[in-house]
Amino acid sequence: MTANDTYDAIVIGGGPNGLTCAAYLARAGRKVLLLERRHETGGGLNTDEYHGFRLNLHAIYHMMNERMPVHRDLDLPGLGVRYLFPAAPAAFVFRDGHALVFSRDAGETARAIAALSPRDAAAFGRMWGEFQPMLEQYLIPMTYEPPAGALDQLTEFNKTAIGRRLAEISDLSFVELIDRYGFTDPRVRMALLAFPAMWGLHLDAPLGFLYPLYLCRMLAAGLVKGGSHRLSSAIFRSFIRNGGTVLDACEVTRIVMENGRAVGVEVAGGQRFDARAVVSTLNPEQTFLQLVGEPALPGELRHAVQGWQWEDRTMFGLHLGIQGAVTFRHPDARVGEAMIVFCGLDTDDELHMHLQRVDAGTERDCQWLHVTVPTRFDATMAAPGHQLVRAEAVVRYDQSWPARAPAFGDSCLRLLRQYADLGEIVLRRHHTPVDIEAKLTTMKRGSIKHGAYTTLQLGYLRPNEWCSRSQTPIPGLFVGGASMYPGGMILGGSGFLAAGTVKGFLEQN
Ligand SMILES: Cc1cc2nc3c(=O)[nH]c(=O)nc-3n(C[C@H](O)[C@H](O)[C@H](O)COP(=O)(O)OP(=O)(O)OC[C@H]3O[C@@H](n4cnc5c(N)ncnc54)[C@H](O)[C@@H]3O)c2cc1C
Repeated sequence: MTANDTYDAIVIGGGPNGLTCAAYLARAGRKVLLLERRHETGGGLNTDEYHGFRLNLHAIYHMMNERMPVHRDLDLPGLGVRYLFPAAPAAFVFRDGHALVFSRDAGETARAIAALSPRDAAAFGRMWGEFQPMLEQYLIPMTYEPPAGALDQLTEFNKTAIGRRLAEISDLSFVELIDRYGFTDPRVRMALLAFPAMWGLHLDAPLGFLYPLYLCRMLAAGLVKGGSHRLSSAIFRSFIRNGGTVLDACEVTRIVMENGRAVGVEVAGGQRFDARAVVSTLNPEQTFLQLVGEPALPGELRHAVQGWQWEDRTMFGLHLGIQGAVTFRHPDARVGEAMIVFCGLDTDDELHMHLQRVDAGTERDCQWLHVTVPTRFDATMAAPGHQLVRAEAVVRYDQSWPARAPAFGDSCLRLLRQYADLGEIVLRRHHTPVDIEAKLTTMKRGSIKHGAYTTLQLGYLRPNEWCSRSQTPIPGLFVGGASMYPGGMILGGSGFLAAGTVKGFLEQN
């Protein structure tokens, strides 16, 4: 390959969205170059092996799993992807001796809630019954369609009764939504609010339309057998099979502009690659301010990008390799079999106070953890006789994390030990917000979705009204990462949508 090779498309960033976009374009017969800054592709789908333990340092819970178009279109099962679906997706352990175990079967979950509060079980049944058609008719298909403007969306919702109901809850906060459905038990309310809260979402923001996704798809979430990286390597294989080219350890430093058009990229070391379309899956600051450069940006786009809001909550991960067993002490055996065990908080008031302390930066010790023992479901994640523990806490970003990590990690461990007996710890790693942004520069300030979820940064406005349909005001430049509609997480959405837009562009140009 020479520096002057010309491609149909260059994709910047080999995370789940970049890989997806590149793989679809290659499958459509296009000549595609994928450029990745790290030594390997995968982005948030990395799985790192330390002394025989396979750590998913970033994404582990796959909410859309087999519902992602990429799963079917690229035959990911044929390329080795297998999802594991634990029967109990989540369990909450309370200090009063009770536990609440959520099952993949909604009836079973309602019965578990009824043991705490029959009234809340009835509310859950009503809510679940409404959420299913909302998801099937609207929310899941919408994830893989270009976003509609607010008025068009409302017109569409108004055509059906369930659409009108979705419109009604869309502007509610998560707390208002739980109130409206009539939940009263503080333990049940805490559990229901934990599903969006664990991702750093604000419980009082008017983002009600996200709730069915964050509740129902988390309860349908799967783990990738062998580690999340297996998903990215399958998409990678599809890309290569279809003639794609990957350069890893290759950081893009500039998007090359000629006569107001994006015509290629320059990488560290100065090499240049040309293409008819350049797709960036990086965050808006990187794409527009750093790689294109402010002088080349239309004023309104420059203002929009300068005002981009990062997430103010992120995650601290404590990853443990254990020789021997990990046993949750609760007498209900299903707690130990749950995919995620939440521990530390008992009521919704405690959750609110905890999040206030996180936001104020006054939480010094860990108060709330969600814990997964991947080896419980997948023995390939560690050597025989060993277990892997992933414990995560919602925290605020600041630069002091590397210094604070050992003490905060100790407090996570103390909290975990109140609920579980651990064998001998033979591996301990902290993954702090500073580590997150160091590993994936896209996740500035530990922003796991490449930018906050606010009403002004979602739907048709993500990342802004000019770019949410993958096109940008700059001819030849497209966006397709988590900062674009539909957003972050392993949804397989933004990269899929960008591929569709770029395919159309290439056919016409
Ligand atoms: C701690 C943590 C836990 C998470 N857990 C989950 C989870 O359980 N479930 C879930 O669904 N989501 C989870 N997420 C979120 C999820 O990982 C991200 O939202 C997702 O990875 C975004 O995908 P992406 O392809 O848009 O971007 P990324 O995954 O960020 O990929 C972007 C890629 O671009 C590369 N890059 C950066 N700069 C350049 C450059 N200049 N040139 C070339 N390449 C560049 C990066 O190295 C990276 O590989 C988690 C995130 C974190 C941090």
